[in-house]
Amino acid sequence: MSATDKPKNPEKHCTYLPSEKKSSKPFHNTPNLDELEKGPWPSFVTGLKRLAMQDKFGNMMVDLLGQLEHSYKTRLGYWKGGTVSVFGYGGGIIPRFTELMGTDGKPMFPESKEFHTIRVQPPAGNHYSTKMLRQLSDSWDKHGSGLIAFHGQTGNIMFIGTTTQNVQTFFDEINEYGWDLGGAGPCVRTGMSCIGAARCEQSNCDEQKIHRLLVNNFMDDMHRPALPYKFKFKVSGCPNDCMNSIQRSDFAVIGTWRDDMKVDQAEVKKYVADKGRKYIVDNVVSRCPTKALSLNDDDTLAVDNRNCVRCMHCINVMTKALSPGDDKGVTILLGGKRTLKIGDTMGTVLVPFMKLESDDDYEALKELAETIIDFWAENALEHERTGETIERIGLVNFLEGIGIEPDPNMISSARQSSYVRMDDWDAEAEKWKARKAG
Ligand code: SF4
Repeated sequence: MSATDKPKNPEKHCTYLPSEKKSSKPFHNTPNLDELEKGPWPSFVTGLKRLAMQDKFGNMMVDLLGQLEHSYKTRLGYWKGGTVSVFGYGGGIIPRFTELMGTDGKPMFPESKEFHTIRVQPPAGNHYSTKMLRQLSDSWDKHGSGLIAFHGQTGNIMFIGTTTQNVQTFFDEINEYGWDLGGAGPCVRTGMSCIGAARCEQSNCDEQKIHRLLVNNFMDDMHRPALPYKFKFKVSGCPNDCMNSIQRSDFAVIGTWRDDMKVDQAEVKKYVADKGRKYIVDNVVSRCPTKALSLNDDDTLAVDNRNCVRCMHCINVMTKALSPGDDKGVTILLGGKRTLKIGDTMGTVLVPFMKLESDDDYEALKELAETIIDFWAENALEHERTGETIERIGLVNFLEGIGIEPDPNMISSARQSSYVRMDDWDAEAEKWKARKAG
């Protein structure tokens, strides 16, 4: 592969490139990557080229671009894993070693032959201060490539690109001022919580407290992977579920309320006066999934709270007029996950409503999580998420295993049906047995 002094078309595409290249290694020719800089949108290639011009780890990024270009040409990936960790930890690092060797048996791109990612837990609710961000960036400039992703899919801050030796030095430095590694591998993973009551009026619970409680309680399970597979906690303060917890976590805690939603009729009237009755009917009333809303002749709003399923649509549209009720708590769902073996699963409602006010309430939440993880760890197959275990052994068995009584408010599919038949259960079971025997 031939080399050039400058990336192709820097004037056109690389608007953020510094004028002076401080790294000593010339850029590789990267025609495929250059294509990804075209157009008006930001380009990760431009970002990588900018880092490649810096002094300390610039050469590493130059070779990273070279390996990436090679991958684009051959349509193959060339990273393999391995074992890299810091003292006392079993996880938190994603090792990456190059597999791309030249005919002489040496790495084709030696400067980036080790390109590990370090996962660091974000603060609950992602509440950073600029001081924290500067500290982290400064440390990463010292020990790593400068490439950071806020945040990876699990929620970690991803410090991407460093050598085996620098993993420990970087960790020691950031740990000194309060940061800890996240989870990687078959373990309890880094938790996530929405920004919560600090910035959001729809919050129904103390998201950050729940997040910290759960994650701190399972810190050992995060740092020493010993579970059948990953287990994720996510906390959203309301059913808008900004953390996608229902879809992306094994144990989702979602804030909700069980009394009536609050309606400020004066604000409703103002809203109607401003937007018109047709707009309200078309955009709020008729979009309620359970037809629980109606607009009265005097421009007030009637809410059939018994049939409201807390989808949040009307509250999101009429934020001043409508808000969650006062009797707040959380719903707990279990078993959400992305694709793999049995396809995507959404969390299943395990606890329809739980108050979280007293220390005892929080203790009960912690115990529930412990019971679930213990049962799942003992009964799951290797590489089996909770949703898959439930699918395999059946929800009834899972509920029995964790000691939770079936409840008709447990919902198998959002806004649709209970999965537990409470009417004539025994008679139905007898009929089923007879059908099976016959
Ligand atoms: Fe209907 Fe959703 Fe509003 Fe409840 S929150 S009344 S279900 S639109």
